Amino acid sequence: MVCIPFRRDDYKHIENVFGYRVQHTLTMGPTKGGIRYHEDVSLGEVSALAMWMTWKCALMQLPFGGAKGGVRIDPTDLSRSELQRLTRRYTMEIINVIGPDRDIPAPDMGTNEQTMAWIMDTYSQQVGRTVREVVTGKPVVLGGSLGRSEATGRGLVFLACKAAEYLNMKMSDCSAVVQGFGNVGSNAAKCLAENGAKIVGISDVSCGLHNPDGLNVAALLKHVAEHRVLKGFPGATEVTNRELLELDCDILAPCALQNQITEENASRLKCRILAEGANGPTTLEADRILQDKGVFVLPDIHGNAGGVTVSYFEWVQDTQNLSWTLEEINDRLHKIMTEAFQRTLTRAQRDGLDMRTAALIEGISRVAEAKLLRGLFP
Ligand code: NAD
Repeated sequence: MVCIPFRRDDYKHIENVFGYRVQHTLTMGPTKGGIRYHEDVSLGEVSALAMWMTWKCALMQLPFGGAKGGVRIDPTDLSRSELQRLTRRYTMEIINVIGPDRDIPAPDMGTNEQTMAWIMDTYSQQVGRTVREVVTGKPVVLGGSLGRSEATGRGLVFLACKAAEYLNMKMSDCSAVVQGFGNVGSNAAKCLAENGAKIVGISDVSCGLHNPDGLNVAALLKHVAEHRVLKGFPGATEVTNRELLELDCDILAPCALQNQITEENASRLKCRILAEGANGPTTLEADRILQDKGVFVLPDIHGNAGGVTVSYFEWVQDTQNLSWTLEEINDRLHKIMTEAFQRTLTRAQRDGLDMRTAALIEGISRVAEAKLLRGLFP
């Protein structure tokens, strides 16, 4: 836990905020996980997210343990220069625990490529040479990987296609609702539409939009580029984020916050496939209700693992001075995501488990095996 003092733009006012970096498992290699800027960030939340990263990396068979970071602040309340000062000071506070062979941060909610560029620059200034591989999710010109920014949404849609195939559904006949229109949500919506699905609902923090005839994702992106939020988009009925989740659809993709699908609303969901892009969007109680309803769940530790997978590709390219094409990246991502889907499905069918439990067992048992093989020191 660190305290981060930084100057506001008036240069008189100094603000103090809390920051965290949690490393959950050191057994598998360096640790890896995003950094979140949000006003509700707490040590408990960051710890839970770090643990999920461990199971996620193990499920995808990546050579990392889990970590997560966070700063308890609303980033939309800060200017660009305030954000830069905050990020650089946070980096200095955690500089002894991060590093390319130790712990490699990446973007999460409220952070982006620019944040990673500032972290990389601050770290490099301190060690006296450019260390591109200390973070992933950087701008491509600084050693970022092609395909990283859209990887989480794209990976989720690779899985949604596999699930649809398994359930004998045709993507071109499917309707989809996506909650969240940030990095994960907007790319998931784009890829779903590219695969033929009709986007009938979308939302962000400002509102939800519904159009049973379909929403044009390019037009939504243009609107957000001009107005920052979805509110005011013409040609759709405005709904609340609560109502959005209960819309008629084949695929529901929560890609914003945790605890969105709860005991209270789970029974009213109408989707056939729940594709979890966000971390922890479904509570334990809701999960049981969804199972009873026969909803096919693509659980978060698998659903959003496309991000860390392409982050791994970025780290590999940076450490070896390689540069893979977008086609290579997407092919490798597809292979890793779908192989994990097959392993999880096979375990679920063999042991009579739901997909979430099967995915967790896949991840946890790999870490357990590694721990046993490493043995006890001394
Ligand atoms: P982001 O900040 O880019 O976007 C978040 C979106 O959620 C925005 O559209 C925002 O308006 C919306 N939102 C915020 N508060 C909301 C509310 N109360 N109701 C409805 N919508 C709200 O964040 P992101 O990177 O897209 O991350 C979204 C989720 O995906 C998080 O749970 C994150 O942990 C997870 N995730 C992200 C990545 C990644 O590569 N970015 C990887 C794995 C998991």
